[in-house]
Amino acid sequence: MSHDSNPRRLAEQPLPEGCTVSRRRFLEGIGSAAGLLAAGTVPAIATVAATAANASESVSGEPEPGGGIGYLAEANQSVNYPGKPVHYAEPAGDQKWGMVIDVKACIGCRRCVYACVKENNIGRNAGFTYIQVLEMELGKVDVEHGVLDYEEAGRPDKWYMPVQCMQCAKPTCVYGCPVIATWKEPDGIVVIDYEKCIACRNCMVTCPYDARHFNWVEPEVPKAEVNPKVPLEEKAGVVEKCTFCIQRTRNGQTTVCTEACPVGARKFGDLNDPESEVSILLKTRRVWRLKEEFGTEPMIWYVG
Ligand code: SF4
Ligand code: SF4
Repeated sequence: MSHDSNPRRLAEQPLPEGCTVSRRRFLEGIGSAAGLLAAGTVPAIATVAATAANASESVSGEPEPGGGIGYLAEANQSVNYPGKPVHYAEPAGDQKWGMVIDVKACIGCRRCVYACVKENNIGRNAGFTYIQVLEMELGKVDVEHGVLDYEEAGRPDKWYMPVQCMQCAKPTCVYGCPVIATWKEPDGIVVIDYEKCIACRNCMVTCPYDARHFNWVEPEVPKAEVNPKVPLEEKAGVVEKCTFCIQRTRNGQTTVCTEACPVGARKFGDLNDPESEVSILLKTRRVWRLKEEFGTEPMIWYVG
């Protein structure tokens, strides 16, 4: 981690070599969310201050009949599908992973974005990244008018909000998949089997966070930069997304975005461990989650 504290200098991070992430794509993603927001279908943001009590309730992830998306959960009780064909390392214990992002600390430098691209073999030609960082006017919570293609980070008149797959406890993406190509693992990580994905993209529609991305082209990653530890090879015609760096977190490491953040804005850890940093933050700070009204129970909280 760098100890450089100049936010502008930290923000001068180039994309990984060959990466042609389309700024337009970012805007399209938010645009579709904004359309829903404008239509009043989706509340812009949940500014719910989770108390220690309701935070721990959320962590349980048990479907609540009749509430939120409970009816979907009831119809699909088995979120963790047995006999899974994907060979990730097994969870090391009974962890339940979660993340807390301090938006007051975040300087919008996108180092997390670039580190994620490299770690997870995201095609440099893909036109998407798993993490996106939204810039908003200081003092306003306005996701609808947030900017994803901002040029200058670390501006004192703005605040920054990274978004990515929330590893929801009640993942609508999973319920949207007709062939069970995606599911939630016991440690809370929502995974996708690229061999089973039939490219219908239903999961993209049923995810309220625009967190899933379709590979329209064969991903191009410079040979020298391929990370052999990523358990599945991305390919054209499948949907992909953040996996909380499953190849790292199941081997005792933190997520690469957490490691890359120069200001420590990201905290990752085990929600089942009451002494973990994330558990303590949930108990002691005012935290909130994005689009909480959907009832998906994201495993990423924001603070600050
Ligand atoms: S953020 Fe979207 S893709 Fe991620 S688990 Fe939730 S519903 Fe699924
Ligand atoms: S979370 Fe950290 S690495 Fe990501 S944009 Fe914010 S300050 Fe930069």
